[in-house]
Amino acid sequence: MKKLIFCSSCGQENTFGFIDGSNRYHCESCLTIHYQNPKPTATLICPRNDEILLVQRAFDPGRGEWGLPGGFLELGETLNQGAIRELKEETNLDGRVKEILGTCSHFNSVFGDILLIGLQCEIDSWDNLKAGDDAMSAQFFSIENCPPLAFECHQKIFKIYKDKFYKK
Ligand SMILES: [Zn+2]
Repeated sequence: MKKLIFCSSCGQENTFGFIDGSNRYHCESCLTIHYQNPKPTATLICPRNDEILLVQRAFDPGRGEWGLPGGFLELGETLNQGAIRELKEETNLDGRVKEILGTCSHFNSVFGDILLIGLQCEIDSWDNLKAGDDAMSAQFFSIENCPPLAFECHQKIFKIYKDKFYKK
């Protein structure tokens, strides 16, 4: 996690220490507390019959590995808007969020703490599928026999989907 050396309110040097119930960066000069929070992601399950859509990651972490499409929410965006934007950016597909499957917390990643929110998507048409943005490739894999996913949290969200919806 990046150190917050200077106060973004007044420019004085911050202190790291106990305040408001926890150890946090804060400014003793202007008394601003610099709260840090997990970053939410939209992590997408896009099933097609007995298959699931995976993207091959173009960048680290997990470069070259397969994972669920998705990414961080942007400011001013709802969860559903972020999901639909990421879907379009990574796979060129249009669709909508059908339901929230569950969440997974990942701590101390290169991006800090992350709250992954697993969403099941419904795709309008698969015809437009084309890997883009930070995906090298986008492909379908059999739900029963897909490659190991890049992150434990992707694995967990995939398992939530399988346990809930995928009956052999
Ligand atoms: Zn300050």
